[in-house]
Amino acid sequence: MSTLIPQAFIDELTARADIVEVIGTRVQLKKAGKIYKGLCPFHEEKTPSFTVEPTKGFYHCFGCGAHDTTIGFLMNYDNLGFVEAVEELADKLGLEIPTPEVSPGPGQDDKYNLYRILGEADQIYRKALRENQTAIKYLQKRGIDGAAAGRFAIGYAPEGWDTVLKALAQNEEQVDALIKAGLVVENEAGRRYDRFRNRVMFPIRDQRGRVIGFGGRVLGKGEPKYMNSPETPVFHKGRALYGLHEARQHPGRAREIVVVEGYLDVVSLAQHGIEPAVATLGTATTTDHIRQLTRLSDRVIFCFDGDRPGRAAAWRAAENALPHAGGQVELVFLLIPEGEDPDSLVRLKGAETFKKLLSGALPLSSFLVGELVKQVELDSVDGRSKLAALAKPVLGKISEGVYRELLVGQLAEKIGITQDRFEALILAEKARPLPARPAPSIKHGRPSLVRQAIGLILHFPRAASQVEPAEGLEKVNQPGIELLIRILEIARDNPQINTGGLLERFREDPNGRHLGELAKEPVLDDAEAAPRVLVDSLGRIVANHRKERLSLLLGRRSELNEDEEAELRTLLRSPEKTTDKKAP
Ligand SMILES: [Zn+2]
Repeated sequence: MSTLIPQAFIDELTARADIVEVIGTRVQLKKAGKIYKGLCPFHEEKTPSFTVEPTKGFYHCFGCGAHDTTIGFLMNYDNLGFVEAVEELADKLGLEIPTPEVSPGPGQDDKYNLYRILGEADQIYRKALRENQTAIKYLQKRGIDGAAAGRFAIGYAPEGWDTVLKALAQNEEQVDALIKAGLVVENEAGRRYDRFRNRVMFPIRDQRGRVIGFGGRVLGKGEPKYMNSPETPVFHKGRALYGLHEARQHPGRAREIVVVEGYLDVVSLAQHGIEPAVATLGTATTTDHIRQLTRLSDRVIFCFDGDRPGRAAAWRAAENALPHAGGQVELVFLLIPEGEDPDSLVRLKGAETFKKLLSGALPLSSFLVGELVKQVELDSVDGRSKLAALAKPVLGKISEGVYRELLVGQLAEKIGITQDRFEALILAEKARPLPARPAPSIKHGRPSLVRQAIGLILHFPRAASQVEPAEGLEKVNQPGIELLIRILEIARDNPQINTGGLLERFREDPNGRHLGELAKEPVLDDAEAAPRVLVDSLGRIVANHRKERLSLLLGRRSELNEDEEAELRTLLRSPEKTTDKKAP
């Protein structure tokens, strides 16, 4: 993806962006010497271990290890894609992203076009709502006032077949965009018509507030009652959350966030002061959704209908929430009594009662145990082994630890046996084998000279442009040498580049992760000394290599081929660089 944006522009962006300003609008930072500190937004903490280094364009948390560049922060914190993060930053700095010289990559131009046309459709729907009494009356009947309708930009798609088509399809290209955006349908006979007709329209926005799709509630008796935009290049149901943009308007991290099933639930709850609330869009709650939610708030309340589809949706959410269980964010479940939904319940019982229900929501573990136990008859042997069989795949989703213990303990208690007996029961149940996990690789020992040199350049890129190229570096065969040469060249060719800029160069490179780790490790306090230390390290790498080759070749002197003879002669001739030689 990054290839669509010229590298030079990304360099410029990372060099010009003020990382303290970007992070500072989202996390409270305090100056501490040359760096800034704050409470880490990626893990829960009481004393600040999150540091931002303005000159390097890099942040790092000593608590949880989170680290990245300015662009990376926007990706991680605002949950943006790379291109989106670059756009956001460019916007902020008032920079125009240059159009790539090569033909635009697949999709990029398209995407801009889709955002634009979706935004225009949004305006048409909003205007149409103001002019349609039936739609206004419907909203009033549902208890939605003008302020809430305005805040969520609710609109109306008129009854005709070609409202949007007529207004926006000036040429074939735009018809194409309308079809791609899911606003217009083309049938097999080639006839084109508006997808949304006679519906109250709920625009779905991304985190930046751009309309990416719509949900439409039919007025009157039509089918289907609710209709969403189809999947498009900009609208992915497994990722989008209705109300997320509005939820993000609240400053800071929300204490809790409510997840419901429908748009009207979101609007209605907001109007009753229960917010932020978001809705999934006719799809199960995915792990991607849950990841976004746990970033927004300390307590995520899944509030689903108590009917069969609602319970199924809650179960899926619980399953996908399991990998996040036991962390700092509380995940709780509330099933609304059958026949009601969050919207009807809050209108019927009022905000206070609803809030009480929310505060009594079940923890994930209790919800899971309760749902499992409901499926079996506990007083029979069969029932117990069935419970063990049902529990096995669920437990398989959690890593060993306190949380798993807790869950096993609760299940054992339900059956009335000891935890050990229950574990034995689970073991006895045949289940699909879990995929083997790769053993964690731990690197021991002192970091190699190559690694040290890479770290040095990462921290002090300017040092690279101040030193002479180390001769013979390309002949060294040691792990990481190619990376060292590459990063040395980039830093030398771009004297303005900072740590963040270097990391951006490697974002999509398999080495990027290692570089990120290296950027976290402090190497040297004294920037002034960096060029000298770098020259010294490079010299030592080459010298060590020569020594090794020399002793190898001398040891096999009688059996050397022509090339090796030549190499040996050169090695013997060239004054060996000693390790303690100081750079000028
Ligand atoms: Zn952290």
